[in-house]
Amino acid sequence: MASKIPFVREMAFEYGVAQQVSPLVRRVVANNPGPFTYLGTGVYIIGHGEVAVIDPGPTVDGHVEVLLKALEGETVSHIFVTHGHMDHSPAARPLAALTGATIYACGEPVKPTESEVRMEAGDDLGFKPDVEIEDGAVFEGPGWTIEAVFTPGHTSHHMAYALKEENALFPGDHIMGWSTTVISPPDGDMGDYLKSLEKVRDRNFDTLWPTHGPPVRDVRPFVEAYIDHRRGREAQILAQLAKGPSSIKAMVPIMYADVDARLHPAACHSVLAHMLQLVKEGRVLCADDPCVDSVYALS
Ligand SMILES: [Zn+2]
Repeated sequence: MASKIPFVREMAFEYGVAQQVSPLVRRVVANNPGPFTYLGTGVYIIGHGEVAVIDPGPTVDGHVEVLLKALEGETVSHIFVTHGHMDHSPAARPLAALTGATIYACGEPVKPTESEVRMEAGDDLGFKPDVEIEDGAVFEGPGWTIEAVFTPGHTSHHMAYALKEENALFPGDHIMGWSTTVISPPDGDMGDYLKSLEKVRDRNFDTLWPTHGPPVRDVRPFVEAYIDHRRGREAQILAQLAKGPSSIKAMVPIMYADVDARLHPAACHSVLAHMLQLVKEGRVLCADDPCVDSVYALS
């Protein structure tokens, strides 16, 4: 499927260097590039003097020290975490211990079942915020205001953060500029994901600062294209099943022929997320517990 999403991939940066990317925002990119993290985790520092940090990132060699250097002479009052994945949250606890900051997040990661395939960079199962927050919670520092925007879908506890002064959103992994997002059930939920995309679209933000990759500046058309992409995948699944009953494992290499094969296992879980939604809506039938090996048919 030819993607019509206007991806943004060009980004000038240097690992470990705090770069002023807007009047209130600095970004430090952690040195953890990969198929899921793209160039690495973008850590955002909000404000000047008394600051907040969004998604401190992984504990790869020296990353916490790099953050401390970037924050030298400043006070960190808040650490906001979008979700407990290994490329987002592990540095939160050491950074809080070293700076005295409080860690805010929606909640703890949902523990995967034993049979579940570990997706993405993996869950940070040790992650626990100091304060669990809800949609709409507002936090203030000198010159900045952050609002929590609940965006379940990528994970059930995913929280994005809006910076009111710049009408900007830090969407974590909910929206990525360089790629689509992995929705891996059961913690990931396609129905929730689409609702969260519509919620972000309707806020009309001027800028999105995803954790991975450069900012998205033309937000509404981008989010629309992201939604259309998912609707397109759904149509593609239905078209595959129109040829006869099939399994996800058989469909993915055909549907994702244009995607890096290393991402096919993740794609299987994205298709499963669609399939669970289609089964829930009664549009697709599955005789057993829906999984990637199950046989699916149009209803
Ligand atoms: Zn993630």
